[in-house]
Amino acid sequence: MRRRIVAGNWKMNGTQSDASALVRAISVDLNRDSAVQVVLCPPFILIPTVATLLTGQQGIEYGGQNLDVHDHGAYTGEISAPMLRDFGCRYVIVGHSERRALYGDTDDLVAAKSRKALDSGLTPIVCVGESLRQREQNTTESVVGAQLDAVVAGVGSARCAEIVVAYEPVWAIGTGRSATPVQAQSVHRFIRDRLAAANDARAADIPILYGGSVKPDNASALFAEPDIDGGLIGGAALSAADFLAICHAAA
Ligand code: PEP
Repeated sequence: MRRRIVAGNWKMNGTQSDASALVRAISVDLNRDSAVQVVLCPPFILIPTVATLLTGQQGIEYGGQNLDVHDHGAYTGEISAPMLRDFGCRYVIVGHSERRALYGDTDDLVAAKSRKALDSGLTPIVCVGESLRQREQNTTESVVGAQLDAVVAGVGSARCAEIVVAYEPVWAIGTGRSATPVQAQSVHRFIRDRLAAANDARAADIPILYGGSVKPDNASALFAEPDIDGGLIGGAALSAADFLAICHAAA
């Protein structure tokens, strides 16, 4: 049985006091009896704040939004997997479309980061997704398939069962224009089949999250689809009420 996960990507937002208020509001009202794994991904500099507040709390994990492939050394501005582990992170987002588009994260680099995460005891939340132009050109499956294949080759087919995949159509991120449940399910099914080609025995266990303008009013319909196992949430993760409503919808 695969896990349901709702992960919040705070991106480059928040001060220490914003982060404290958000974590407190989420942890006070979170239904801890639910089977949903909640993951908060604050900016690196706010991880200690979040970690301190979540010490001893059940049902909420936290992680980074990126990592470097090296463990340490002369890599100015970067953060490594051992550093994330040192602060208690269990997850890390890898290959977000903003990293791919703005910071040059290629399929091969995303694969290397995914492998580094696994080798270091972190679960990578591997983002894949097509641009609007690629969707209009009917190349969604070839784009997403290539992104996925690179990661499977990088981590190995046996270990691909240890990753979490997030399907995030680029045209739906931060735009208010979510994929419809039918559109999302179709790509999630494609992703699951592609994973099954690599690891038939375990593909059914791999959580595949949907991301792209998930809000309280569309979350239930998306999460009702058979291959949508939760969400990677951007804008709505900055509001405790909205994020909790989305967690509730996943339960
Ligand atoms: C994201 O950035 O991962 C994301 C899904 O953003 P939003 O929910 O704001 O579209």
